[in-house]
Amino acid sequence: MGLPESMTYKYDRYPYVILTPIGKMNKQIRSIGHKFERGLLSRINDAIADQVNHRSLKLDRLQRYLTVEGNTALPISYLKDDVINPYLIRPELFLWTQHPKEHGLPYNKEFLYDTNVTQLSSKGLEHHLAQVMDDYFFLAEIAEHPKQYWFNKIAESFHQHPIVQLAHWKRDVIEAVETMNQSALLSQLRYPEEVARWRDRIDTVMRPFRALPRLWLTQQKEMCRHEKQLHFNSRSRSISCRCEVCDLTVFYHLDNDCVTLQEEYNFERTSKRITTIEQQFNDIAQKNTTILNQIQELTRMKGNLRPAKSVLDESVRVARQIERYKEGESVLASYPLLEMHDQLTCSAFPTKRSPSVLVWLSNVHLCDVGMLKQLSIWRNHMDGQVHANADTLLKELQARLDEVEYTDEDIIIEIKGHELSYAYVQQVLDLIHYYGTDYPAHTLVQVLAGKSTNKLRRLKLHEIRWFGLLSDWPSKHIQHLFNQLERQGWLMKQRKGYSISAFAEEVL
Ligand SMILES: [Zn+2]
Repeated sequence: MGLPESMTYKYDRYPYVILTPIGKMNKQIRSIGHKFERGLLSRINDAIADQVNHRSLKLDRLQRYLTVEGNTALPISYLKDDVINPYLIRPELFLWTQHPKEHGLPYNKEFLYDTNVTQLSSKGLEHHLAQVMDDYFFLAEIAEHPKQYWFNKIAESFHQHPIVQLAHWKRDVIEAVETMNQSALLSQLRYPEEVARWRDRIDTVMRPFRALPRLWLTQQKEMCRHEKQLHFNSRSRSISCRCEVCDLTVFYHLDNDCVTLQEEYNFERTSKRITTIEQQFNDIAQKNTTILNQIQELTRMKGNLRPAKSVLDESVRVARQIERYKEGESVLASYPLLEMHDQLTCSAFPTKRSPSVLVWLSNVHLCDVGMLKQLSIWRNHMDGQVHANADTLLKELQARLDEVEYTDEDIIIEIKGHELSYAYVQQVLDLIHYYGTDYPAHTLVQVLAGKSTNKLRRLKLHEIRWFGLLSDWPSKHIQHLFNQLERQGWLMKQRKGYSISAFAEEVL
């Protein structure tokens, strides 16, 4: 840290300053200049001397920071050709940084004050230097500890902030309110105007918590892992720490060892509001025992269907396959047991009962709120025979699938009088499976049409078993065939050529 000794120049006439070249190509100071420079150096030196003496400033920490001795308290930089740099160097330039010994300090506007000292009155210069010295003393204090020390301090104090503590303490309620605010279940609750009033208050109640990024709350004593910028304010003796990604700035105050936020909220009020909004929801829930009971019944049903799960899963799969063959027919919906299983599978119910209905209900996820209405129908299918019923159902569905599945002779595509049987479609799909993405569509068309072009011979495509498979088809109809296969969901267009779809993969 500090000023590289090889790049500093001391003059007995100006004991409070030390001169140093700035700029990468600037390797030395040959002369400190003439009357103007000497006058300026004198004024700065005297002004600092005044401050040190009048304010009884202790220089040792600052000198450790700058690695200087004697009375030195401030570096003054020189540009190339021995011109004094009218902008003083900010102390941040030396923070946790080692500067190279073989050339001047880096010239970077970010690390220079933007006050031109050559244009200041003596009062102005005094004032500016007082500010600059405060900054140097403050940064020297910061530099006594490594960067990580301050990050730890900030993180620890952040979690001690009253609103952050409240966020930790009320975490389940806060999350429950946010979840319920988005939940489709709300639309099912009585009485809509009460629910609307409840929702209206959410933004106000949640504002203090929404300002806290989730990543800062996941672990006690820690912040998010993104890169952060630190800024130092000697006047308020605080460090501001900003995460651009999370869009959060916190201010750490050294003297109180505490953090403040950009926007501060009243703790008592915030705390009372979160308790109230939970209570209000639970009051609404009390008027909705029917729905609560229905959800509990659904939870039980899901549990009772568990022994038949694998059979029902398979049945759903077969039903979906039938639906692919019989476009537009809703097979799943015509079997209540199956529909019930399907919708319960994609629904989630809390395993534990929470004392707060709000928290409990926020953990309920229904695949579709229409499930509540179906309950009376589904109930009839929940007898002791579920397992046996599921077995029967699967057999029935498999029989239906056998019926609708194509046989090799079925004509499944017709283009301008040219018919293609399922057996042929399978062969075309085979070709796509092996070569679909290696060649563009028109090459694949030529293969099927059996056009023995030079290109095809060079690629040895005239030797593969699909060559000439559709030799009695005009080429343009083969291109239409690809389009048709794509439309029917057998093929998918790729950047080059085609690939076969998941459906084709399953059926073949
Ligand atoms: Zn972040």
